[in-house]
Amino acid sequence: MKNDAQILTMKLNVSEGNIESVPAIKVNDPLLADAGINLYVKREDMIHPHLSGNKYYKLKYNLEEAKNIGHKTLLTFGGAYSNHIYATAAAGKIFNFKTIGVIRGEEYKILNPTLSFAKKCGMTFHYMDRETYRNKSNPEVIKYLEEKYGNFYLIPEGGSNTLAVKGCSEILSLIDIDFDYVCCPVGTGGTLAGLAAGLNGGRKVLGFAVLKGADFLNARVSKLLKSYSGNDFNNWQINFNYHFSGYAKFNLDLINFMENFEHKADIPIEPIYTGKMLYGIFDLAKKGFFTSGTTIVAIHTGGLQGLAGLSYKINRLKSRM
Ligand SMILES: *Cc1c(COP(=O)(O)O)cnc(C)c1O
Repeated sequence: MKNDAQILTMKLNVSEGNIESVPAIKVNDPLLADAGINLYVKREDMIHPHLSGNKYYKLKYNLEEAKNIGHKTLLTFGGAYSNHIYATAAAGKIFNFKTIGVIRGEEYKILNPTLSFAKKCGMTFHYMDRETYRNKSNPEVIKYLEEKYGNFYLIPEGGSNTLAVKGCSEILSLIDIDFDYVCCPVGTGGTLAGLAAGLNGGRKVLGFAVLKGADFLNARVSKLLKSYSGNDFNNWQINFNYHFSGYAKFNLDLINFMENFEHKADIPIEPIYTGKMLYGIFDLAKKGFFTSGTTIVAIHTGGLQGLAGLSYKINRLKSRM
C-alpha cells in the first residue's frame, strides 16, 4: 500500500508511468472449480488507505490537469455516502487543492462517516436540493456555483470523464495473468470504458450495473470510449441483472453471499459495488455462462469506506434472519 508520502513523491508526474502494482488473489471455491473457472480478484482497494480503488485511477489525470492549468480548487458532486466524494476530499488534502463537495439533498446535522472524513480533509459542503441536483450540468447551476465559490476545476459526479477513462485504462497494464474476462461493477461507466480501452478492443470486459433501469449506460460507455479512444470497441458488455432493486439497495441473500465469500477468499468487499459484481460472477458461473477453462480477473474497485455508514442497515437485515 502506498502511503501519502509515496503518493506525494509522484508529484502528479503521472506521465512518467507511475503505474501501480497490487496483488491479484486467486479465489478457491468448489463451485468455480466444478465449472472449470479460474477467478482472480485484483485488489485495487489496496492502493492507498483513502485514495483507493478505481477512484484513484479516475482522479489521477484530472488532478494533473487541474494542476497544469493552474486551478487551486476542485468541485464535484455526489451523494452523502459517495466513495467519489470521499476520494476527492482525500486527494485535495494530499495534493493541496481546496475541495468543494456538492452534496445531493438536505444538510446533514450529524455527519455520516463519509462526510465526516471529507470534512476532516478540509472539504467544503454545498447541499443541493434534489431537483436542482438533477440539473447539475445545466450552465446556470454551474454559473451559480462559480459566483459562490470562484474558479474551480469541475469533476463530474462519479468522476467519469475522458481523463478518468485514460486513468482506468492503466488498471490492467501490469497484470501477468492470461485472462479471458475482466469484470467490474458499473456505476457511471468510466471504469468499464477504461478497461475496454486499455485492452484496445481485445479480450472481454463484463460489467455489472449496480443501478436499476440503467440501459442508458450502454450509450454512456460508448460515448466515453469514443471521447478517449475515438472508437467504442465491441469487447465489452454490461449485465443488468444484479442490481438488487437499485443503487445502494441490497438484501440478506447478498449479505450472506458476501460473508461466505469473505470467509473463503479472505478479501473484504461491500454490498454497493463489489458484492453485486461477485454475486453476479458466481451466479453466472453456476448457470454455465462461462465455458470451462475460462480465466476471469475481477477488479476490486474499493469502496470499503462505505461500510462504516452501512453497518446499521446490514445488522438490521441480519437480525431478521
Ligand atoms: C465509484 C465506484 C464504482 C463505479 O465506477 P464507475 O466508473 O462510476 O462505473 C465501482 N466500484 C466502487 C467501489 C466505486 O466506488
